[in-house]
Amino acid sequence: MDLLDELQKQVLCGDGAIGTLLLEQGILLERCFEELCVIEPERIEKIHLEYIGAGARIIKTNTFGGNAVRLARFGLEKRVEEINGAAARIARRTALGKAIYVAGSVGPLGLTADEARDRGIDRGDCFREQIGALLEGGVDLIFFETFTDLEEMEIAFQARREIDDGLAICSFAGSPDGRLAAGTLLVEGFAKLRELNAQMVGVNCVSPEEIVQLIPPGPGDYLLSAYPNAGYPTSHEGRLLYPSRPEDLAKVARRLIAGGARLVGGCCGTTPKHIASIAAEIAGMQEK
Ligand SMILES: [Zn+2]
Repeated sequence: MDLLDELQKQVLCGDGAIGTLLLEQGILLERCFEELCVIEPERIEKIHLEYIGAGARIIKTNTFGGNAVRLARFGLEKRVEEINGAAARIARRTALGKAIYVAGSVGPLGLTADEARDRGIDRGDCFREQIGALLEGGVDLIFFETFTDLEEMEIAFQARREIDDGLAICSFAGSPDGRLAAGTLLVEGFAKLRELNAQMVGVNCVSPEEIVQLIPPGPGDYLLSAYPNAGYPTSHEGRLLYPSRPEDLAKVARRLIAGGARLVGGCCGTTPKHIASIAAEIAGMQEK
């Protein structure tokens, strides 16, 4: 089973948010979500299984903030290998015997280039450490998500390349005007990553309305992924309420696929219901 081959032939459904479900389950926002892979693996395993049951063919590990810089906020910076390894093994376990790909989620470090320099942090080292642990734990590919800075994405992608030339998806959270930090156009970011031989690029964590504008029209010379969020939330009695319904995401998925996306999932605010709705839409489109 080779993901790139499969994506050439058909569109696949990704999973949805993990953090949103954890919050709904009463996990506090101040907690380190990634640490749950070690202390409550069953909770994370259940979420993966729900997404697989909803029709996701690619699931992402619960490791978005699993780099040393972000884990340091919780005093867990020495446990990068342990946490990412555990996360990869949990996801691998849920995929056992099924036609499911496991992607290791890697988010931005959460600091600027200047801050990294001032603190003596080698950003490449941070990414290498996390990516190495995820691959060691058995993930099939690395999913760089919610990056807003092209330079940081390049550092992360190169770190992945130094380990081996396996698959990585490079997904940006662009602003509604199609720009990244420092004013770089999203399409310029895609072009730059293609020069570096990135196999797959994408957009995630922007609203359904925005993402259809951001995905470049027509089939480009790269494979595209699209993971819209469920709109921007409002807070009601301590709960986050997201505006987009499962059927809204299905409609957006149809437009994204028509625009060339080969992998469609969901970001913040999406649940197994949203993913089931997207999966049904994809299945319906491919029957024709
Ligand atoms: Zn998101």
